[in-house]
Amino acid sequence: MSARIEIDLEAFRQNVRALATIAAPARTMLAVKADGYGHGMLPIARAALQSGADSLAVLDAPAALALRDAGIDAQLFAWLHGRDTDFRAAIEADVDLGVSSLVELRRIGEAGAGRPAAVHLKIDTGLHRNGASPEDWPALVGEALAYQERGQVRLAGLWSHLADASPADDAAALAEFQAAVAVAAGIGVPMEGPDRPLLHLAASSAGIRMPEARFDLVRFGIAAYGVSPFDDVDARGLGMRAPMTMRASVIAADGGTVALDLGSADGVPPSVLGPSGSGAEVLLGGRRVSVTAVGIDTIEVAATASVGDEAIVFGPGDQGEPTAEEWAGWAGTIGDEILARASTRIPRIYLNE
Ligand SMILES: *Cc1c(COP(=O)(O)O)cnc(C)c1O
Repeated sequence: MSARIEIDLEAFRQNVRALATIAAPARTMLAVKADGYGHGMLPIARAALQSGADSLAVLDAPAALALRDAGIDAQLFAWLHGRDTDFRAAIEADVDLGVSSLVELRRIGEAGAGRPAAVHLKIDTGLHRNGASPEDWPALVGEALAYQERGQVRLAGLWSHLADASPADDAAALAEFQAAVAVAAGIGVPMEGPDRPLLHLAASSAGIRMPEARFDLVRFGIAAYGVSPFDDVDARGLGMRAPMTMRASVIAADGGTVALDLGSADGVPPSVLGPSGSGAEVLLGGRRVSVTAVGIDTIEVAATASVGDEAIVFGPGDQGEPTAEEWAGWAGTIGDEILARASTRIPRIYLNE
């Protein structure tokens, strides 16, 4: 067989179950952005909802609408909006919307949908990517309450994103978030009762290690895909198993070198051979062998093998194959990137659907 990617959905479901147990009583939202971190958004979304997640974080409104079209009726949260985002369609499809600014709030409030838009106001707690600054926050909250009075929005959440920086930075961001929540309460946002907005801040890292950051909901991503968010423990150490296995076949053998049928165009990072990295390996014939070249369509490894033999580029690690985490180390990048850049031109095969 030729190059392919296997996705073990049961491994993914077990990871989600374990994370949901860690987060409880906080709810679990699963991040499926970047096409489910390269695993395929729809099968991953379904598997997440079968195993303890009750909502999905989808980046933008078009992705949320694609999930709705596929029949997913769980809560969907989209937070990155462009100038041409069709808010009316998103609101009518009952997509919860992150809101970072008054401009966005007004576009959403005035979208003319036949129902109130569920909005989650974002405070910037240090990432400076988006979110309202502490100066702009009171006006954003006040105007959201006014739109709520008029039935155009429903204040469904207050949120931010922890940067996975140092513990000191995360503690500072948590304090900023708590201060912003207190400001919102002072302006009249109810903090008790059924109309209370959801508070959410943590992704994988804080969701696992910072209980005080869990609030109502944790937005888990990378840990569910079997990559640790921490430097001091790998995914297996966290009890997570990588669902993705990338396999390749020998297409040419010449002396002590063989070529495998995938390359940089399929997502194998050429930087593993650059100054920042070395030592990349694959599993071939039950042994780890060194990668010696990364071409566009092939990689070369130092090994003796026959055409048609199969190699594992990365996987969960239990047969001795490298993990995506190891590839990230060799390439000088993060595991998210190794997974998400795995090209869609490689067929995905779903196991344990
Ligand atoms: C990507 C993302 C997550 C998940 O982050 P991980 O570190 O992968 O767990 C959660 N929330 C938001 C807003 C994100 O962009």
